[in-house]
Amino acid sequence: MDIISDTDQMQQRALAEKRAGRSIAFVPTMGFLHDGHLSLLQEGRRRGDLLVLSIFVNPAQFGPQEDLSSYPRDMERDLAIARQAGVDLVWTPTPEAVYPPGYATWVDVEGLTDTLCGASRPGHFRGVTTVVCKLFNVVQADVALFGQKDFQQLAVIRRMTIDLNLPVEIVGLPIVREADGLAMSSRNVYLSAAQRQQALVLSQALAVAQLMVQNGVTSAEEILTTLRRLIKAKPEARIDYLQICHQQTLQDQVAIDTDSVLLMAVFVGKTRLIDNGFLL
Ligand code: AMP
Repeated sequence: MDIISDTDQMQQRALAEKRAGRSIAFVPTMGFLHDGHLSLLQEGRRRGDLLVLSIFVNPAQFGPQEDLSSYPRDMERDLAIARQAGVDLVWTPTPEAVYPPGYATWVDVEGLTDTLCGASRPGHFRGVTTVVCKLFNVVQADVALFGQKDFQQLAVIRRMTIDLNLPVEIVGLPIVREADGLAMSSRNVYLSAAQRQQALVLSQALAVAQLMVQNGVTSAEEILTTLRRLIKAKPEARIDYLQICHQQTLQDQVAIDTDSVLLMAVFVGKTRLIDNGFLL
């Protein structure tokens, strides 16, 4: 497994691979890898001749009050996991290389980024789309793999890829969960034992919503009212947003149908967790 930090070296290698007729599968991450990342790497291994993993904690997608400086990092462990997963090349750029002095170009997807995480984290998606666009250009990805855990992010990246005619196939893969239902996240390490227990309310809320729909409830508001009560019963939990949206437009829905996705962001203590799932 090769490890490259330099951006030009990464791009030259990618161009050489393409000239040699090899396809490139790409998994962009912020590191501190878990089984959610691993599922993307495994699918990437199947889909590309060369499997590239990037590890980059992107400052541009963190707000001033967010956890950029404390974001968990463990490069040695990540490299061991990558090796095990059959990654060919790990790219670990520095923030200075991605955003050198004088950097002035941003990619902004409108509309889809106005709601949900976009509303509570101003500028977040601008940072995400900018970096993903740059990573795609350097890595020359033919296919890029993303998790449905970040449902809105996936929708926004699909929109960007279409709008900018990027020659990259975007693949979305299901949420990987702990045995007790908690969606895997690098941020779960922030949780105390008591918070970790209360964090289960997110996946429980999703299960309750799915059960209500199975039992014939079609009113989004009725479901949301029940879930708000459930979540508020946890002393350390505070709802950031809790919405039932159309899977493509991300607009709120009044009545449940096969396009309905429950999306939530909940602070447990100081840690902001997200989860989502289809209701039918
Ligand atoms: P991150 O390192 O948090 O930026 O995530 C990198 C990629 O892994 C993104 O495409 C995420 O959606 C995906 N991912 C993170 N957690 C999970 C999970 N629990 N299941 C599936 N994919 C995930």
